[in-house]
Amino acid sequence: MASYVPYAVGVLGVWAAITFTQHPFYRHHDTCDNLASILDNRVFASSSAEYKESVSSYFSFQEQNLQPACVVQPTTAQELSAAIVLLARDYHDHGQQFAIRSGGHMIPGGAANIHGGVTIDLRAMNDIDLSSDRSKVQIGTGATWGQVYKVLDPLNITVTGGRAASIGVGGYLTGGGLSALGPATGWGCDNVLEVEVVLASGEIVQASRTSYPDLFVALRGGSNNFGVVTKFTMAAHPSNGIWGGFMAYPESEVPRQIRAYSDFMQSRSVDSLADPIQSYGWTSNRRVLFGTNILLYAKPHPHPPVLQSFINNTTTLHSTLRITTMADFAEEEDRYQIPGFYYSTLYFTTTFAHDPSVYAPIVSEFNRSCHAVSAVENMNWYMSFQPSAALNGENSLGLDPRDERLNIIILVAFFPSPEDSTVVRNAANDLIRSIEEITRAAGVYRPFKYLNYADDSQDVIGGYGEQARAALQAASRKYDREGVFQSAVPGGYKLFA
Ligand SMILES: Cc1cc2nc3c(=O)[nH]c(=O)nc-3n(C[C@H](O)[C@H](O)[C@H](O)COP(=O)(O)OP(=O)(O)OC[C@H]3O[C@@H](n4cnc5c(N)ncnc54)[C@H](O)[C@@H]3O)c2cc1C
Repeated sequence: MASYVPYAVGVLGVWAAITFTQHPFYRHHDTCDNLASILDNRVFASSSAEYKESVSSYFSFQEQNLQPACVVQPTTAQELSAAIVLLARDYHDHGQQFAIRSGGHMIPGGAANIHGGVTIDLRAMNDIDLSSDRSKVQIGTGATWGQVYKVLDPLNITVTGGRAASIGVGGYLTGGGLSALGPATGWGCDNVLEVEVVLASGEIVQASRTSYPDLFVALRGGSNNFGVVTKFTMAAHPSNGIWGGFMAYPESEVPRQIRAYSDFMQSRSVDSLADPIQSYGWTSNRRVLFGTNILLYAKPHPHPPVLQSFINNTTTLHSTLRITTMADFAEEEDRYQIPGFYYSTLYFTTTFAHDPSVYAPIVSEFNRSCHAVSAVENMNWYMSFQPSAALNGENSLGLDPRDERLNIIILVAFFPSPEDSTVVRNAANDLIRSIEEITRAAGVYRPFKYLNYADDSQDVIGGYGEQARAALQAASRKYDREGVFQSAVPGGYKLFA
């Protein structure tokens, strides 16, 4: 048991220190006590309401299931810097590891939480400020996109953010960022103009195209491998509302919907304000294949011609298409998700370039895969096609600029019993393999695996390609010489694995 040094904040400090030393994972040293001694009331033990709220607010069951020794919630870059210096030292001396979280929406267990280590929860750093010339928005990493849209909608401004309200800013932007505005404005990370980041040394730097440019590019897709971003300055786009929503249709409509999506991808550059996500689903309750579209048009124009072929009023089972705001649209997206607690979640992904011949066979494979999961109790099994974002800046994703019409597939499983994980994981792997056989045979397979949609068994960094990987590794050696973010932060997709 570690000895603790009561720090000079009186009763609260003594109580916190005793609680940390009693934590079952707290055996070798006193990292949580030391953090509490420098961050006063921002370090929370497992008995506190703040700790419980933090752990239960992850999206996936796998993340909620991990019990850190303590949660630290810095409110400023300076507080974060002090915590990083201490954590880097404790890793060096005692091997204590830590995790970094913003919104907590990444699925794999351990991506942004850690069993027995220290979790840095950045949600208190969530300020949102529009510049006086209305060209830029500064956003704290701990904000959610719902909070961002709620501030910006009334100002007639938007940014290239996530589709669902509860997604965090930090993970989304450091991992890439597919937005409903992506076909028009590019990846979320390409819309970042500047970041403030705390390096392993504790140094706080501003990175942009002109200052630390290699670090800046590395952070556009390089995730948590270089430091902890505290705030992002993003390009602001004028917006006076959108048109969009959700629609569901029966199996009989599937061939027509596949055609609509394929035609959209064929002519994608015709109207870049449109963004459709087409999904196929199977649930234990319904036991038949059904289809849904999430359509968005980035102006408040109902039924734009570019999206008209997706709409068939005679067969639509349910539709919420309407003129609305980004905040309202993002809140609706959240309602279609099943956040953790009772459900395990798996995400898998693969990427291919447009070819009209591949969509129908892929949907058939998805249909066939439903048998593999049909015995799983309360199973929810979905596969979505979505267009990738336009390429409009230098990032680390390794995408070929000639590939302007990429499809990103996300395969999603929600199921209540963790005992079913192996069956579901095998079904997911088999389906991804079949899809990749189809896309390889058509010559449109791409190795890119979108970091924010990937399972932790997928080779995300390898999928960026050798050149991008080498640049990321060089940035890591330069800005994190001791490899703190490679070893002390085990969660996420590492560069030298
Ligand atoms: C319901 C739902 C809807 C989604 N919709 C979309 C979508 O429309 N488009 C899309 O692109 N993605 C989408 N995603 C995926 C989402 O972008 C990722 O899960 C993303 O990582 C979430 O960001 P976060 O801040 O909530 O993540 P967290 O889980 O907090 O973090 C994710 C990773 O980023 C690292 N990280 C977080 N903050 C920082 C930081 N400040 N500095 C350095 N590293 C950091 C963490 O260590 C972790 O490894 C969706 C996910 C869900 C669950």
